[in-house]
Amino acid sequence: SDEPVLTLDGPGGAGKGTISRLVAASLGWHLLDSGALYRLTALAAERHGVALEDESAVATIAEHLDVQFDAEGDATRVILEGEDVTRDIRLETVGNNASIIAAQPRVRTALLARQRAFARAPGLVADGRDMGTVVFTEAPLKIFLTASAEERARRRHAQLQEAGVDANISSLLTEIQARDARDMGRAVAPLKPADDGVILDTTDLDIEQVVERIQQLLVEYG
Ligand code: C5P
Repeated sequence: SDEPVLTLDGPGGAGKGTISRLVAASLGWHLLDSGALYRLTALAAERHGVALEDESAVATIAEHLDVQFDAEGDATRVILEGEDVTRDIRLETVGNNASIIAAQPRVRTALLARQRAFARAPGLVADGRDMGTVVFTEAPLKIFLTASAEERARRRHAQLQEAGVDANISSLLTEIQARDARDMGRAVAPLKPADDGVILDTTDLDIEQVVERIQQLLVEYG
């Protein structure tokens, strides 16, 4: 596809979700939340009684995923097999299961075409782990958004509290570190900055500053 793509990769809790949504809205571009596809695959596997270790069965689930993303004002409702799972896919357990099945090459392959189909006019902001390194390697601007693990645990904690979920910062930190290790250490599509990408550390930046920085980068690389 010739549509412009901006890739935003990085570890969980770096603010990619929020930043991607804001940047896509400011440009009027489409948005791909690729992590949601891995989360949906994990959730669908669980609901269909498929073991997470059964790579070929999980890949089949990924390939036939019956999912709809419905824009609803600023938010997006996620519908799996006709059921609203917007909240369910955000659970930590689903995120952890997503990271387990995401290490399976056949699952990643099964989701490739679906992800690439999101690149449509006037443009796409693609949020994930391998958007710049695997899925959209031709993107002119590839950003690696990161922050210290401690800062990401603090942000996740605040986010959960806002949603009325009780959580413990130190166990969140442990989970974040385990997920990082799994995402960076896997053989296929490991989490890492693209060779021709830009690293943006957001530890000491607020959301507005990050969005501004990305807008500057878009002018430079556009
Ligand atoms: O970003 P999010 O936390 O929703 O992603 C859930 C998991 O899905 C990640 O921990 C990662 O293992 C996997 N993932 C991936 N490649 C992507 C997006 C997500 O492997 N492009």
